[in-house]
Amino acid sequence: MPLLEVRNLEKNYKDGDTETPALRGVSFTIESGEFLAIMGPSGSGKSTLLHILGLLDKQSSGEYLFDKKGWDDYEEDEISHIRNKKMGFVFQAFNLLPRTTVFENVELPLLYSDVPESSWKKRTLDAIEAVGLSHRAYYESSQLSGGERQRVAIARALVRDPQIIFADEPTGNLDSKSGGVIMKILRELNESQNHTIVLITHETYTAEHTKRIIRLMDGKMVSDEPVQKRRSINDHNLK
Ligand code: ADP
Ligand code: MG
Repeated sequence: MPLLEVRNLEKNYKDGDTETPALRGVSFTIESGEFLAIMGPSGSGKSTLLHILGLLDKQSSGEYLFDKKGWDDYEEDEISHIRNKKMGFVFQAFNLLPRTTVFENVELPLLYSDVPESSWKKRTLDAIEAVGLSHRAYYESSQLSGGERQRVAIARALVRDPQIIFADEPTGNLDSKSGGVIMKILRELNESQNHTIVLITHETYTAEHTKRIIRLMDGKMVSDEPVQKRRSINDHNLK
C-alpha cells in the first residue's frame, strides 16, 4: 500500500481574470521508505506539487491521498494535525528563530504536540545528534554557518518522528560542500533510519544522491526513473 498517491493532479492559480496552470495531470505513488527527488527547471511546478503533497495547498482537480485519505476525508482542523504529526518540512530558507539556541529551535514543534513533556529533552537531543550537531546544541542559531543552520532545520523536521520529510531545495542557499553534507545526512536518515524523503531540486548532482527521480516540465511529468548510478556518499566535491 503506497504511503502517498497522486492521480491526475492539476493545479491552476487564479488571479483575477488570469489563470496559471502550474500542474497539468500528474500521477505517481510513493511507498514508505523511499528517497526520491522531484526535478525540473524553475517554474515547472515543483513547489506547487510539494505544497499539495504536504497538505499546505489543495489541488484544483485530480486526487491526492496521503495514508489512504484525501483532503475531503478530513475536517479542516484535522489537516493541520496530520501535517504537524506525520510530516516534516525543510525549506531553502532555514526559517530558524533568531537569538534562540539550537536546542530551543529543535524542541519548538514538541511544544505544539501531544508528545509527553517528559520525553521532549531526549527527543530533541536525539534529533540534534542525528544531524551531527550535538557539539552545537546550546549555540545560538546566529552563531552557526548556513550548512549548520540547515541541519538544525532538518533536526526540527525530525523531532516529531514524521512519516515523511519534504525538503524544497534544501541545498539551494548553500555552497556545494555544505550541500554535500546535507545530502549525506538525508541519505543516512533514509538508509539507517528508514525515513521516507521527498526532495525537490533543480540540480542533477543533488538528485543523484536519491534512489528515484521524477522530472517535471511545464507542469507535466516527463519521466519517473530509478537512479542507476548513485553518487558516492563521500563525493562532497559535487560540482
Ligand atoms: P518551481 O518550484 O518548479 O519553480 P512553482 O511551483 O513555484 O515552480 O511554479 C509553477 C508555476 O505556477 C509558475 O508559472 C509560477 O509562476 C506559478 N505560480 C506559483 N505559485 C503561484 C501563486 N501563488 N500564484 C500564481 N501563480 C503561481
Ligand atoms: Mg520552487
